[in-house]
Amino acid sequence: MTRWNSTVIASAFLVSVLCLPGTEAGGETWDPLLPDVRIWRGEVRISRTGSAHEKWDKSHRGKTNTYFMNRTVTDTLVIKACGQSGALYVLEAKRSLSDITESENYWQNTRELCDVPGSRRPKRISPGDSRRISIRTAVTPYTGEGTGAERDRSWVALEILPLKNYALSAGNNGVAGRDEDNIESYRRVCADKTTRMEAHIRTGAPGEPPRVESSGSEEGEGTVVQWLTAPPTDIPLATNSRGSVQGNTILEIDHLVGEIKSGRDGGYEEVTKASWEFTARNPCPEVFNEFLLLVAIGEAYADRPLREFAEDLEDYERKVNWKVYENRYGTPPPKDFGKDGEGNVGFSMWVHDNCQLGGRVRYEKEQLEECSVLVIAKAAVRHEMEHVSQCKGNLKKFRSRTIEARGQSEVSAYSLESGILLNWLTDYCKDVGLDLAGARGRLQRLKAKKAGWK
Ligand SMILES: [Zn+2]
Repeated sequence: MTRWNSTVIASAFLVSVLCLPGTEAGGETWDPLLPDVRIWRGEVRISRTGSAHEKWDKSHRGKTNTYFMNRTVTDTLVIKACGQSGALYVLEAKRSLSDITESENYWQNTRELCDVPGSRRPKRISPGDSRRISIRTAVTPYTGEGTGAERDRSWVALEILPLKNYALSAGNNGVAGRDEDNIESYRRVCADKTTRMEAHIRTGAPGEPPRVESSGSEEGEGTVVQWLTAPPTDIPLATNSRGSVQGNTILEIDHLVGEIKSGRDGGYEEVTKASWEFTARNPCPEVFNEFLLLVAIGEAYADRPLREFAEDLEDYERKVNWKVYENRYGTPPPKDFGKDGEGNVGFSMWVHDNCQLGGRVRYEKEQLEECSVLVIAKAAVRHEMEHVSQCKGNLKKFRSRTIEARGQSEVSAYSLESGILLNWLTDYCKDVGLDLAGARGRLQRLKAKKAGWK
């Protein structure tokens, strides 16, 4: 049996969300004495920037000895997330990292005294031996196998604390690869030979052991090349902070996360800053709307004449749909209602023939992605679990596909589901102008029509 997907129904019926007094954006704040059940949605941005520029020249009396090194780091993380106070659902995460270092050291002797075969006097050759070492390293995000999606390695925890305070923790457990090219050139003037040594390090899959491949000989002239594989490394970027909630907004710009200062000129310095902005929406109107829709569906299933006049189960569901519209909006549905699958059954969750619940994981994930109020999903799952217990309790009746059995089973499930929402509304939405007493009366009348199943 399929659950009526009330979200589908709500959109198919083109409901406009109720406008309740005092719920306009920014117009009110959450009662600080109540647990915060607002839905927060926003973005955290962390950026780390660093640089180093070193240069010296120790050349002296014809000997050359110079060095330079440049390093530039840009590392940014943007996470979009939503949800209720606590661990938010990460909708999107993007990390871009670039850490490039280039250095070169050059050394050259003034002269060499070289032996000349057959001569007792060595020959003087200027300039002498030289050595040049160039190193370039690049640290970039590693996206190879086994690293998982960026979203799964990111988190945002936004805890709304008493007295309008909050604690935020957000970050990303990034995986970085480090490529290094190390090239050394050694020139010996007496032998008139140049040896070139290359060492290249590339990032391999996590757990892959380093490997070495060589070619050439380290003796004499020629080039020796080594290739090494190194495992990727973790490179977390995160922020932790506290602050105060301003109405429905949490805002922080350029919060200083950390700093590296260098003691010397041109040494490596780094600054990490974070900014975030979240806005909250009051969940009361949408939970109340959901309650009104669920109760309208329950009432339609409880309607005696509908069951009697329906030709078959399909016709019954059609008539129920029609009645739901009337119950919810107080007018009959428009003429073309029911075409294009309007008000049709959604296949979000279902109970298998073996009485197991299907579709739950996907449904709950969808609800998180839509940043919906958690209690709505919780109640919907409870509704389905009621069908599961109906199935287990009386398999024959549950699978009979009779109008009577369908009506009874849904009245029970919708009473239960809307009751969960009403209790939640009673806990959190007492003073926002909702007619909760009227809602309670309506639910009690629906419950009184339950039959066949508890
Ligand atoms: Zn149902």
